[in-house]
Amino acid sequence: MTTYDAVVIGSGINSLACAALLARSGWGVRVLEREDELGGAVRTAELTEPGYLHDVFSAWHPLWVGGAAHAELGDELARHGLEYLNTEHPTATVYPDGEAAFLLRTADANAEELERHAPGDGDAWRAMLAEFFPNADLAFGVLGTELWSKAGLGLGLKGYRRLGRRGAAAFAGRMLVSSRDWLTETFESERAHGLLAPWVLHTGLGPDAAASGFMTQVIAVAVQEGGMPIPRGGGARLVDALVALIRERGGVCETGRDVEQVVVEDGAAVGVRLADGEVVRAARAVVANVTPTQLYSRLLPDGVVPSPLAERGRRYRYGRSEMQIHFALSEPARWEGDERLDETAVIHLTSGLDGVSRAVNEAERALLPAEATVVVGQPLTMDPTRAPDGAGLLWIQLQELPWQVKGDAAGEIRVGDGTWTEELRERYADRIQARIARHIPNLESSLRKRVVLSPADLQAANVNLHRGDPYSGSLALDQNFLWRPFAESPGHATPVERLWHIGASTHPGPGLGAGSGTLVAKHLLEPPLRTRAFARARTFVGR
Ligand SMILES: Cc1cc2nc3c(=O)[nH]c(=O)nc-3n(C[C@H](O)[C@H](O)[C@H](O)COP(=O)(O)OP(=O)(O)OC[C@H]3O[C@@H](n4cnc5c(N)ncnc54)[C@H](O)[C@@H]3O)c2cc1C
Repeated sequence: MTTYDAVVIGSGINSLACAALLARSGWGVRVLEREDELGGAVRTAELTEPGYLHDVFSAWHPLWVGGAAHAELGDELARHGLEYLNTEHPTATVYPDGEAAFLLRTADANAEELERHAPGDGDAWRAMLAEFFPNADLAFGVLGTELWSKAGLGLGLKGYRRLGRRGAAAFAGRMLVSSRDWLTETFESERAHGLLAPWVLHTGLGPDAAASGFMTQVIAVAVQEGGMPIPRGGGARLVDALVALIRERGGVCETGRDVEQVVVEDGAAVGVRLADGEVVRAARAVVANVTPTQLYSRLLPDGVVPSPLAERGRRYRYGRSEMQIHFALSEPARWEGDERLDETAVIHLTSGLDGVSRAVNEAERALLPAEATVVVGQPLTMDPTRAPDGAGLLWIQLQELPWQVKGDAAGEIRVGDGTWTEELRERYADRIQARIARHIPNLESSLRKRVVLSPADLQAANVNLHRGDPYSGSLALDQNFLWRPFAESPGHATPVERLWHIGASTHPGPGLGAGSGTLVAKHLLEPPLRTRAFARARTFVGR
């Protein structure tokens, strides 16, 4: 039996970033993935027809490119063939009347664009940036720091020293504001509200949720500054490069290896047992990229953690479900209206802030939304290698769906027993296709093939997408930031020594930033004394 320094359960972006950082520091790592492909929610496949490279799940990499793992590993990944492409037209919203609003790449361009929709909104944009930038390190710090640690305390003290007691309290208070309140207080134009409100869906929230205003600002600034980068050839090129780096440093990445238990001896994780009975031992760490549901229902043997804590982990809540639609077209999609739409990477179709709010509310009441917020992704605007010459390809995301469907808010679709059958999936996709076709008149005439993934299909493809939740757990305030995955066991240390919890279910949550994998890798690579201090902080939190 070979012993590794670290065994990593699952091969999502957090796992691969963690394993790569450890491997290049000399750790022996082994990544065990139960599916037959590495990368979790990062996968590129010829899903429709040969020559069409679809990003099956995630597609947009601003969080990766703006994150700490990329800063550390980017040059080495480039050596392994990873190349990022970017755009001057990252995102827009198209309204039912065909009018569009754009978020662009410079402060001046955005001020000009917003001013076009309402006099004064250009200045409001500049004022927002002027307020945001001086404390951007605090805002991004919340998302890039182990909050229950010395570093987290340091971030708090930095804010306190810079802003004073009242200022720090005001800053924290502003973080809790909803997107609706922030947008309507900041901008006059409903077009501006509708441009930014759909982005909160990408953080797992809705525009009326606590902290969604903070996330709206963070995304608005991040998109202006960072654009909408994607890897040439598909998202899986990032996975390929990370795996190549891990293997180059002697690490092992395997597919078809389902971990069924964490092996615990004397209160410490010492390895894992696979479904085929093999035991892989880990001398220094077991890093689990799983949901709390799996961690506390399957992987941890009974009695290893106090039962109230295990029970709390099993009650971890999931957010709304999601559907993906992939279109292969014989020619490029041609948008009606503003010609910049043909160049724009991510376009939302919605009637605006109230439209997003209504669709979220309907989904949360277990209804199919009458008028969903449709995310139309156009990777070919940056990367023509993803489709045959002269062809078109669209990536569609719907983030406002229930797992168990009670009815249809539009009163059109029969939902049967409420489970995601093939019939329900295709009828709902028909509605969405008709919506998109109103803005892309050549959609249906050029359609070669459509592939739809329902929430049930997402769950079947990746156990971490439990109940078809793309973000592996509700991001309501009690399961977000300081309290992710849940208040009784926040952060990444677990009640079991040497067992670390990473992935979208943990802080800083979902997305391709690889935040949790990076935080844990950096912590493991710290000198032993600091490791003990970190563990003490966890014990303190646990009291
Ligand atoms: C449809 C969709 C679209 C998205 N779009 C974007 C986007 O454009 N940009 C963005 O930044 N984010 C996006 N996201 C979110 C982002 O993709 C995810 O938050 C992120 O990829 C999750 O990474 P992870 O490291 O948590 O692990 P995951 O990607 O969830 O992977 C976990 C892996 O662990 C494996 N595993 C679990 N249990 C075991 C076990 N017991 N044994 C072995 N293996 C196991 C699973 O099979 C899986 O492969 C999207 C998500 C989805 C679903």
